[in-house]
Amino acid sequence: MSFAQLGLSEPVLKAVSEAGYVDPTPIQAQAIPVVLTGRDVLGCAQTGTGKTAGFTLPMIDILSAGRAKARMPRSLILEPTRELAAQVADAFETYGKHTKLTKALIIGGESMSDQEKALDRGVDVLIATPGRLLDLFERGKILLRDIKVLVIDEADRMLDMGFIPDIERIVTLLPPLRQTLFFSATMPPEIRRLADKFLSSPKEITVARPATTATTIEDFVVPVPGETAKREVLRGLLRTETIKTALIFCNRKRDVDILFKSLARHGFQAGALHGDMTQDKRTSTLERFRLGEIPILVASDVAARGLDIDDITHVFNFDVPYNAEDYVHRIGRTGRAGRSGRAFTLVTPDDGRNLGAIERLIRRGIPRHGAAAAPAEPAPEERAPGGEAEASPREDGGGRRRRRRGRGRGRGEDARPAPEEAGPQEARPQEARSQEARREERPKNAPRKQVPRRDDRHREEPRAEQRPSQRQPAPPAAPKPAQRQPQRDQADAEKQTGFGDYVPAFLKRR
Ligand code: AMP
Repeated sequence: MSFAQLGLSEPVLKAVSEAGYVDPTPIQAQAIPVVLTGRDVLGCAQTGTGKTAGFTLPMIDILSAGRAKARMPRSLILEPTRELAAQVADAFETYGKHTKLTKALIIGGESMSDQEKALDRGVDVLIATPGRLLDLFERGKILLRDIKVLVIDEADRMLDMGFIPDIERIVTLLPPLRQTLFFSATMPPEIRRLADKFLSSPKEITVARPATTATTIEDFVVPVPGETAKREVLRGLLRTETIKTALIFCNRKRDVDILFKSLARHGFQAGALHGDMTQDKRTSTLERFRLGEIPILVASDVAARGLDIDDITHVFNFDVPYNAEDYVHRIGRTGRAGRSGRAFTLVTPDDGRNLGAIERLIRRGIPRHGAAAAPAEPAPEERAPGGEAEASPREDGGGRRRRRRGRGRGRGEDARPAPEEAGPQEARPQEARSQEARREERPKNAPRKQVPRRDDRHREEPRAEQRPSQRQPAPPAAPKPAQRQPQRDQADAEKQTGFGDYVPAFLKRR
């Protein structure tokens, strides 16, 4: 199947060819003809499959007939993060370069007045994050009555980030007669329910099993005895691996800052990306990483989700993700476009349950990386001259140890550091921080603090997206992997590791 057979116009085909694409990807081959007929689409596809062009290319043709009116955009694309929204805006720029379509990007962290001016001029395509869109709507700056095409992208991530009430509200503001394209990497029941609610007789398109990792990625777990050993183990890996560009994921944005500073202190050229940084800083850091000026980027899930950066050779999970699906998303940043990539996950004895959930999701064990034996205690170079661990207790060890103890009592106490533990944040007025940034403060799989949202202030019951695993007690402390006896049988391992009823594959094989 070639692009020419999909029914796209000449200007769009020209732009596609100038982008260097020869053949459509499977999602493009299946979605483009359907979208052009005006039918709703339910797409189960991850980033990296070419889904952005799958909806952007036909939308350009659909919107080319007609003109935008002031403050009344004709199509709306909802994205969970600013970076993804910006990427989609770039896609419209690339694929729509031979057409006269206008677009506006409505995201937090950017000047409201510039966004209002763009809306006043009239736009064909509005690409937005839900919170900022509702802010503008509530100020009367935007009318959504003329929306002909709605795209809800990364719906499962919207769910994770607590955006679903916003999305439901936005959809009530749109005309019922419209075309809706709904994409999600996974289809849990809550997402199915939303799809049923928003779509009418959709064409379902699934292009890859939701929980698969690319075969071009070699992934490993690296056992570490505890939190304090992680940075040294990571540095060891950064030195021994042949890295061109690497993404390092932390579960909390505060730890992104701490790790970034630690790496810089040890002479690594690194950048940091998380939702509490100003948009300017996020954009410039990302651009420098894209250009290869910064080879290492320490990031949080929210900030790095779906980033389309070619040629990331390595992904490091400094923390095991709370959410098993995030593992697939994180390591999927490497091994793109048929290239090979390597992914390493640092695993402490406390991480058994989360690692188990990942291995069950991907239906395979992750091999243990043999070479990276970790010291039981921080090595001397890890200590500051005063004899303390390299970061002050306020910055790292103390706070982290306090949080670990809190974890034993239930993760809720782990969700937000106490104010006195708050890590360094860029000076930014509280009210200017985005919804996205606020959500990033909470580890995703930790219990949500029940803050009533704008539109559900009267509902206090637990949120539907709270996962059952959140209510489970944390596993008991496990012995250090370095102390395990190689011959121990599996039953023995289950009794002694503290991993409860699950023994990660790397332990079974020993
Ligand atoms: P996406 O899944 O939309 O994030 O796209 C992933 C990457 O695939 C982007 O870098 C696109 O530029 C690229 N891409 C999209 N469609 C094609 C195609 N037909 N051929 C080659 N690359 C593509």
